[in-house]
Amino acid sequence: MNWQSPFSLPGQWYKGNLHTHTTQSDGTLSPDQAIAWYHEQGYDFCAVSDHWVLTPGQAYAPDFVTISGTELHGDGYHLLVAGLSELPPRAMEHEPQAIIDHVKAQGALAYIAHPYWTGRPSTETAALRDLDGLEVFNSVCEITQGTGHARIHWDDCLSAEQRLTGLAVDDVHWRFEEAGAGYVMVRAPELSEIALLDALRQGHFYSSMGPTIQDLRVRDNGLEGPVLDVVCSPCVEILFYTCGPQGRRFGALPGTTLSHASLPLQQEQIFVRIECRDAQGRCAWSNPLFLRDVLPA
Ligand SMILES: [Zn+2]
Ligand SMILES: [Zn+2]
Repeated sequence: MNWQSPFSLPGQWYKGNLHTHTTQSDGTLSPDQAIAWYHEQGYDFCAVSDHWVLTPGQAYAPDFVTISGTELHGDGYHLLVAGLSELPPRAMEHEPQAIIDHVKAQGALAYIAHPYWTGRPSTETAALRDLDGLEVFNSVCEITQGTGHARIHWDDCLSAEQRLTGLAVDDVHWRFEEAGAGYVMVRAPELSEIALLDALRQGHFYSSMGPTIQDLRVRDNGLEGPVLDVVCSPCVEILFYTCGPQGRRFGALPGTTLSHASLPLQQEQIFVRIECRDAQGRCAWSNPLFLRDVLPA
């Protein structure tokens, strides 16, 4: 099996936000104030990602690091970038693939930001090469326009076997009470920029607005074959999304909650990813598992 659950890895869970604006572009807090806010809220890391401004990572405190960040954009796309050392030339902004190639050549991570808010079809994202992921949830887009959720954009790309991870982010500008509403939980061997970037690259994280995913494993269920098990904090729905109608929804009875569910795995599903939704409508999202990594061909 080529798939590894982040829950089976050594290390710890670190909470972070990768999409943060400050007075260096269109945010209202300074970089120092923004970083201090996440530190005080119990986060372990953040990235300051101002528009076409590169903010290098730093060891901010013994219990908090920042990751090099920026947000690059041109006609019809915004690209969230983590771990970059040098900005591409602004003249490249109308060629998203050239920007992605430039970023990836530096070993950085590239994510399509808020695809629903941007309003371009998923086929455009699915045609891009070497993306690391997209934002499945963007807090400021949800609060201001109701376009923060991008689960269908994500599934369109996954169905085309484009291996994208899914980030939940604040995209905080400090104007709309959006701070803290979307974050990632990264499983890494230590709290350092390099270890966090490596774990993000390998998909060793889940995203959330509040619920906690507590375990995710493939179990051999004898004659029934392999089964994907998930355990989470108390939720009202656990959903398994796949390519086409091979997924399943488990809903709690009124007044009760669910904290685990299982789905038999089969090759036709192509991919499986999980969403857990709590009574307040807040979601947690696992990264996708591809069946060809789990089942013998
Ligand atoms: Zn943006
Ligand atoms: Zn932004």
